[in-house]
Amino acid sequence: MTICIYGGTFNPVHIGHINVINTVLRKLKPDKLIVVPDHIPPHKEPSDLADDRHRINMLKIATRGIAGVEVSSFEQQRDEKSYTVNTIEHFYKKYPGARLIFIMGADLAPGFLGWHRAQRILELSSIRVLARNQGERKRIESAAAEIRRAGGDVEIIDCRPVSVSSTDIRSRLIACGRADGLVPGAVERYILKNRLYNFDKTKYNSYVEFLRERLTAKRFAHSVNVAEASLRLAVLNGADLDKAYFAGLMHDCCKEIPREEQLELLKRSSFEVTDVELGAPKTHHGIAGAVFLSEHFGISDPEILGAVRYHTVARGGMSLLERIVYMADLISKERSYPGVERMRQEAYSNLNRSLFSALSFSIRDSISKKRTIPTLTLMAYNDSVGYFLDEENTARDS
Ligand code: ATP
Repeated sequence: MTICIYGGTFNPVHIGHINVINTVLRKLKPDKLIVVPDHIPPHKEPSDLADDRHRINMLKIATRGIAGVEVSSFEQQRDEKSYTVNTIEHFYKKYPGARLIFIMGADLAPGFLGWHRAQRILELSSIRVLARNQGERKRIESAAAEIRRAGGDVEIIDCRPVSVSSTDIRSRLIACGRADGLVPGAVERYILKNRLYNFDKTKYNSYVEFLRERLTAKRFAHSVNVAEASLRLAVLNGADLDKAYFAGLMHDCCKEIPREEQLELLKRSSFEVTDVELGAPKTHHGIAGAVFLSEHFGISDPEILGAVRYHTVARGGMSLLERIVYMADLISKERSYPGVERMRQEAYSNLNRSLFSALSFSIRDSISKKRTIPTLTLMAYNDSVGYFLDEENTARDS
């Protein structure tokens, strides 16, 4: 008897997971494939983890019509960290003599030998790995070779990868209330009915109304769209959702007040204002906006104020929230400049890389228009080159 065990958080289950299940059933033809949602994930701490009950219900709905699949509540019945080794030992005892195969996505293979009692998992089961994205083969092969050197029986299962993650889906649901076809239809209905992965935007209604009165319809729509893009980037990058939504929403709150009023506010800025900025009126509304938020609404959070203050010029050493609002402003839904779709995709898949692209573009643009470039922007660019090179080196090493 061959039994495949497929563990994970499934927060929520998505079409990538279903692709894994179907591929494994087709290629390995096990007698059973048992899907085991965890209780406390040992390797990650998602801030938006749906209840065990919901995650298991979604799995049951998603696998209802697939013969040979069982959903197990084994890990969820134990009030402890969900270590795979305990699950494998459980099924090893429950099905004496069965051949156990543990299924995992490519992202887990490189760190596998560091898992709790990894050697015991290798003693009791084989491992099969499936790609999550195109072009991962080399990386998976080197991880598999390491596991083999540790005595494991590991193989890669060829499949057509479906590049999607639960994090990406949560970001879409939290920001825009839809999963864009990345989870089975019945699962999406379950999510909406039970209000899972839902961010309560109504608590910002008074600010929305304030902006509606103060801004033109076009700028108002932009502000709401930037708030949504910030929220989505915040989920993807593990930032504070409320701060991201609020800073995105309010980033242009002073954009349409008269120049003189902006200058008055600017004089009271606790953030340093450089000479180049003083001579560039287009950058004033960010600085003015931060002063206005603190004087008018009593906002004192330095992260929020920084994100509004620097959203026009950026700066060296930008905080995560500053990077989020800066990029959200460039990729918001209504933007339609040439290349925006590429910029959007880059921002949603790699915030730092998109910051490098955006700053490079902005600096080239200023040069071509013979405009001065704030030192802050140059410092932000220099930092972004650093992120970029770090990531390139990590990718090469892995
Ligand atoms: P999150 O984005 O919240 O980290 P996830 O999308 O990685 O979640 P998990 O529930 O953590 O989903 O994944 C469970 C298992 O499924 C893991 O072995 C993971 O590598 C694998 N997996 C997840 N998504 C895919 C995918 N698109 N293709 C192949 N394997 C996947």
